Amino acid sequence: MDTPPVRPRSIASHHPRTKPLHAVSTTMLVAVLLATIFVAWTPTSFSTASFSDKLALLLTPQAPSNSNPSGPVQQAIRIGIVSGHRGNDSGAVCVDSTGKVTLTEAEVNYKIATLVQQKLVAQGYQVDLLNEFDTRLNGYRAVAIVSIHNDSCQFINDQATGFKVAAALNTRDTNRANRLLACLIDRYHAATGLPFHAGSITPDMTSYHAFDEIDPSTVAAIIETGFLYLDREILTQHTDQVADGVVNGILCYVNNENVEPTPIPTISTATP
Ligand SMILES: [Zn+2]
Repeated sequence: MDTPPVRPRSIASHHPRTKPLHAVSTTMLVAVLLATIFVAWTPTSFSTASFSDKLALLLTPQAPSNSNPSGPVQQAIRIGIVSGHRGNDSGAVCVDSTGKVTLTEAEVNYKIATLVQQKLVAQGYQVDLLNEFDTRLNGYRAVAIVSIHNDSCQFINDQATGFKVAAALNTRDTNRANRLLACLIDRYHAATGLPFHAGSITPDMTSYHAFDEIDPSTVAAIIETGFLYLDREILTQHTDQVADGVVNGILCYVNNENVEPTPIPTISTATP
């Protein structure tokens, strides 16, 4: 809604205070007010329907719109969740002995991302569930954006278990990015018991394409919530727990919660 025209201060200060009769001064004030309304509004802004509304609005005492705690509900905080590979490709795949695909990373990512969205929406946040190459990523603005992926379904070795997190290297605010990173690592580990697999963070993660597309003020991270081979059970049978880990990590960041200092890989560009 447009702001109603403001009565100029000079007129407001011309209260006829020295006049002896209150009735006269009141009449004068109303006359000045009405004159101001007719001067301030151009004929094109007159429509018979809205005129009486505007007049009523102007003549009704109102608290300043920006300091009214009982006013319209605060706009919800926006958070972005990218469902890795969705709308583009399957990502990593699990195959049976005949080579038939039994599970795709994209479907695991989507199940987790959907749960994360639902849980955050239930807490009052506005959450965009985005595809891997979503057109909305271009210049995307939010308090945070987290992309959800998972790692290979090949048996590599016994160490191929756990999760990985990387934050955007090209952020405007390294402190905030490091906080999101620390929050995700701490809360995801607490919710799932999975180890933080710091050793295999690849350029695919640190140079993630969406990091370049979003608005530079949006803090971003990518999480690989597990390995599809060794962590398959928790990822597919206890997805709720996995989603809670991501949600708690995001809430830790958004609410500025305390994080116990953990050795995390810094994203400083000074590292050789
Ligand atoms: Zn992936």
